[in-house]
Amino acid sequence: MYNVKSPRAQEFISNEEILDTLEYAKQNKDNVELIDAIIAKAKLCKGLSHREAMVLLDCEIEEKNQEIFALAKQIKQDFYGNRIVMFAPLYLSNYCVNGCVYCPYHQKNKTIARKKMTQAEIEKEVIALQDMGHKRLALEAGEDPINNPIEYILECIDTIYSIKHKNGAIRRVNVNIAATTVENYRKLKDAGIGTYILFQETYNKESYEKLHPTGPKHNYDYHTEAMDRAMEGGIDDVGLGVLFGLELYRYEFAGLLMHAEHLEAAFGVGPHTISVPRIRQADDIDPTEFENGIDDGIFAKIVACIRIAVPYTGMIVSTRESKECREKVLELGVSQISGGSKTSVGGYATPEPEEENSQQFDTSDKRTLDEIVKWLMDLGYTPSFCTACYREGRTGDRFMALCKSGQIQNCCHPNSLMTLKEYLEDYASLETKATGEALIDREITKVPNEKVKAIAIKNLEDIAAGRRDFRF
Ligand code: SF4
Ligand code: SF4
Repeated sequence: MYNVKSPRAQEFISNEEILDTLEYAKQNKDNVELIDAIIAKAKLCKGLSHREAMVLLDCEIEEKNQEIFALAKQIKQDFYGNRIVMFAPLYLSNYCVNGCVYCPYHQKNKTIARKKMTQAEIEKEVIALQDMGHKRLALEAGEDPINNPIEYILECIDTIYSIKHKNGAIRRVNVNIAATTVENYRKLKDAGIGTYILFQETYNKESYEKLHPTGPKHNYDYHTEAMDRAMEGGIDDVGLGVLFGLELYRYEFAGLLMHAEHLEAAFGVGPHTISVPRIRQADDIDPTEFENGIDDGIFAKIVACIRIAVPYTGMIVSTRESKECREKVLELGVSQISGGSKTSVGGYATPEPEEENSQQFDTSDKRTLDEIVKWLMDLGYTPSFCTACYREGRTGDRFMALCKSGQIQNCCHPNSLMTLKEYLEDYASLETKATGEALIDREITKVPNEKVKAIAIKNLEDIAAGRRDFRF
């Protein structure tokens, strides 16, 4: 029985409700009157239900699809302006006791190099990341109670926050580790993490169990209820995601939005972010063996429909996607991207020799962070290294309230310019710096609040003079 508030996975992600939703959307995909009504509702920017969003996803009427894409672009612009937040993944350890069939870190893979970084190695990696200009990391580790216990993760977080190299600092550590206990989530919260990210992989229980044949991750309910435990443990910024390609994308789309609705209904705060990864080539993983891969057109439609359905939720694409694909989805709704990423354990400080491959997946976008920053600015975006909200205690429902009132814009815009200025001063190439300075000169005039503008201009001058870390 579907119950959005239920603490039980199979009730808030009810298979029956998903199947009914898919059928409802199929029946209504040509229902112009209904589609118009849903688009009109979406224009109010208060989001859509999973059923409504599903109808838009299934719609094949060209003219209506153009309206859907235009609306997604409008909502993206209204909520996120031109800003794109930058981050990098940091793989701590690829030891894993699970058997996920789509990931080369699965326990039975004997060809991949197994690595776990020491604190000294992490220090080197973090310095290399700081020297690129990164301020925000997403920590990644396989599930392994012996090699990667929670104490190891906590120690790594402490190490990362403690490293101050030249003007560098990692100011926000997001964490993507296996589903765990309320007690461990509380420890992560106390360690000062930003977002807790956990991909569902697939919401389809039957497929989930086949795709995770062994290890603790096999337990669908425990995995699906992880965000509830994270919330109970005090983590109020959580990041959802599915791995597109494992199951039929329509099923995943409905499940993803139902999960978001559940968090909102049960805890009063929806997901902070949604990630939209697609299966990629990796050590012993061949993406063509998965039958449910989606093409770039469907991928773009999914991004647009998520943007419309949950306007307040940030959307992330990683370097799994190519430059061309990232360009397309940036305008449709993506608000955060990674840059200069390494998906191996180590590799930022010293490139990994080919015979020691420990990558989780092959990246598609292999450009440096400087190249990506320049590219974004040439496309008209403002790359942002902002981490202000979590450091100002603006998380969970406090953050969402600011988003919903539109007040967050007064912070995001000047913060993006000040953090970009830091990047330009400390890390950018001459060409990138010139482009960025011109961008800041243009953009600073657009800060609507005169008081905020005056403070931001003063802060920009102070950054040029060598001071760091200003925020609204
Ligand atoms: S997806 Fe995660 S849990 Fe599964 S094998 Fe890879 S690292 Fe382990
Ligand atoms: S002010 Fe907050 S919401 Fe805006 S970019 Fe910074 S951290 Fe994100």
